Amino acid sequence: MNIKLIGFDADDTLWVNEPNYQHVEIKFCSLLSEFLDEENISEELLKTEKQNIELYGFGAKGFMLSLIETALRVSKNKVSNQTINEIIKLGKELIDKPVELIEGVENVLNELSQKYKLIVATKGDLLDQERKSKKSGIEKYFHHIEIMSDKKEENYKTLFDRLEIRPENFLMVGNSFKSDILPVVNLGGYGVYIPYHVIWQHEKIEEAPIDLNGHVKQIDNITELMKLV
Ligand SMILES: [Mg+2]
Repeated sequence: MNIKLIGFDADDTLWVNEPNYQHVEIKFCSLLSEFLDEENISEELLKTEKQNIELYGFGAKGFMLSLIETALRVSKNKVSNQTINEIIKLGKELIDKPVELIEGVENVLNELSQKYKLIVATKGDLLDQERKSKKSGIEKYFHHIEIMSDKKEENYKTLFDRLEIRPENFLMVGNSFKSDILPVVNLGGYGVYIPYHVIWQHEKIEEAPIDLNGHVKQIDNITELMKLV
């Protein structure tokens, strides 16, 4: 490996994210419990989110709109204004939440930034991710923060071109095999996969093929990254 640039996913790689969304989802289900049971509401919500991704992209604001749309659908438009208000409040709380770094992140970034150029490559709302980056206190370790509309091969290709980096000199670290690892490795780059205990249904893949020409390593904890690079 001749790594010159290391990219980090942000949500659930550098800081806690999905548990916050799931917390909102549980509250959302209980707000609508008179209309449908929890499991079915969750299923309906995922359906709405998937349909809306192309329109809204990833992130908290699109999530809020999907919550409201789902509430209207499962209640057959009977949901009260007060409940809609509660849902908006839940969404705003989600956006406003303090950023909680994953254990060990700061040390790892501190050490690696002395040897490599580091970037963040994340998807989500521009404003939301910018706000989280600022609040995280770890911006200083990064040469560049890229907020991407999606994380497919073509998106990474654009990123490599812009940063003038060859894929074989790039290593991506993240918790989503589908978005952080696979597209990068398909382009000839390297990946370190760190599964997080909670994953959004949309990011799930059947089984992560672990050894793609030796370009992928899996670790349990970000601090183990120091042994790999
Ligand atoms: Mg992530």
